[in-house]
Amino acid sequence: MPEQLATRPEAALDAILGDPDRSARRVAQLDDDEEFPARLCALLDDFGLPAHYVPARWGGAPDDHEHLLRLWRTVARRDLSTMTAHGKTYLGAAPVWIAGDPEQAAATAATVLSGNPVAWALSEPDHGADLLSGSLTATADPGGYRLDGAKWPVNNATRGTHLTLLARTGVTGSARGHSLFLVDKAALTPGTWRALPKAPTHGIRGIDISGIAFDGALLPKAALLGPEGTGIETVLRTLQLTRTMCAVLSLGAGEHALRLTARFTAQRVIQGHPLIDRPHPRSVLGRCAALLAATEAAALVGARSIHGLTAELSVTSTVVKSLAPTLVDSVLGELAELLGVRSYLTGVYEHGAFQKVRRDHQVVSVFDGSTPVNRSALAQQFPRLARAFTTGSHDADGLAEAVSVGTRPRPVDHTALTLSSRHGCSVVQSLPALAESIAARGAPTGLVGQVPR
Ligand SMILES: Cc1cc2nc3c(=O)[nH]c(=O)nc-3n(C[C@H](O)[C@H](O)[C@H](O)COP(=O)(O)OP(=O)(O)OC[C@H]3O[C@@H](n4cnc5c(N)ncnc54)[C@H](O)[C@@H]3O)c2cc1C
Repeated sequence: MPEQLATRPEAALDAILGDPDRSARRVAQLDDDEEFPARLCALLDDFGLPAHYVPARWGGAPDDHEHLLRLWRTVARRDLSTMTAHGKTYLGAAPVWIAGDPEQAAATAATVLSGNPVAWALSEPDHGADLLSGSLTATADPGGYRLDGAKWPVNNATRGTHLTLLARTGVTGSARGHSLFLVDKAALTPGTWRALPKAPTHGIRGIDISGIAFDGALLPKAALLGPEGTGIETVLRTLQLTRTMCAVLSLGAGEHALRLTARFTAQRVIQGHPLIDRPHPRSVLGRCAALLAATEAAALVGARSIHGLTAELSVTSTVVKSLAPTLVDSVLGELAELLGVRSYLTGVYEHGAFQKVRRDHQVVSVFDGSTPVNRSALAQQFPRLARAFTTGSHDADGLAEAVSVGTRPRPVDHTALTLSSRHGCSVVQSLPALAESIAARGAPTGLVGQVPR
């Protein structure tokens, strides 16, 4: 019998975040002032959220990405900016659990558990998704490596005390030409690095989107994460975790917007009747709720697949990261039309929260691999996926774990992350058999027809 999750971990966090109206007002003010949500992030630290960014074997909370999903969703439902700022440390630290040695993992765990932000620095001014062309160099030096170049734009580049940094150590364009480093900013010689100014943004306006430039900064050999030349591979494995969890940002944002709009349609009286009594608004709300249920299913199965179907995550993560922001962008568009002028004005109706969540969410489909980048990564696996689909084989135990929502999953085996999935995608490959079993039990008309064969 699988162990059940603690009941509603999100309720305690929600209580800590306080009265929703007061926090909405504060969040709107921070956005207006382009001010970092420091107090909210401190509340999350006090709650112990950073412990969920550290594997249990390094002193963190029990490994459980469904639990983390529930916590992140609670925050994202209130303020996507705060969630994006705080959650970045999960992304920044994740490569250490994958490629770091025990000393690096223990040090990073201590950093994260004390509430220090860790940034994840891949992008450069001239190279975004094209990591192989990255031009920041780490040149071998008698004492270690010398860094030259810049990373930008990077979330928490300035506030972060540490960053995981991709740098070129070999031939440009070569898969083995880059290495990953764990940089402790406090250990760098002053004058060999500088923070780049905060980049003004359309959404998530208060958070620290900035950069870092190096000019001969020296790193010790011990800063190298994994063997030299394995940086790209480690990044690709790490992105499987981070892209999967990005779906939670979309889920929380969509649920926030649905709540705002549903409340409006119930309160707004038009020609003597609440707006919600009309068929069109009801159908919009119903469709958006259904799309959010689909987003939730993708996010939940994705998060649980980190544990149960780890070796398939190269597929799962690309599907989840391209699907969730796309669905939620379309939900936000439909809800904006229904909310009308209050979806656009900044000072009215729930402190202008709708236009903020819509602006904030716009970036989820851009960072950590854009939607086209994820679709392209998925398409590269199509031949193998098509072959695996014809076999109908799937990892039944892993799949059962991935869909057993509410139960404690097995700890994450980071060594099981692979660049492409050898056995395809168990979720998809199990569908024909599932459809048959549902059909045999008298499924609603049309349901079985939706399943690929
Ligand atoms: C708010 C914010 C926070 C960010 N935080 C971080 C961070 O913490 N760390 C970090 O390293 N970076 C961060 N970034 C950078 C972000 O990840 C990059 O924007 C991303 O890498 C894409 O780069 P790009 O848009 O500059 O351009 P490019 O990668 O040059 O892309 C240009 C266009 O080409 C498309 N494209 C690129 N490659 C492909 C492909 N293979 N197939 C199909 N289409 C493709 C893209 O989708 C895009 O439409 C952040 C960006 C923002 C805006």
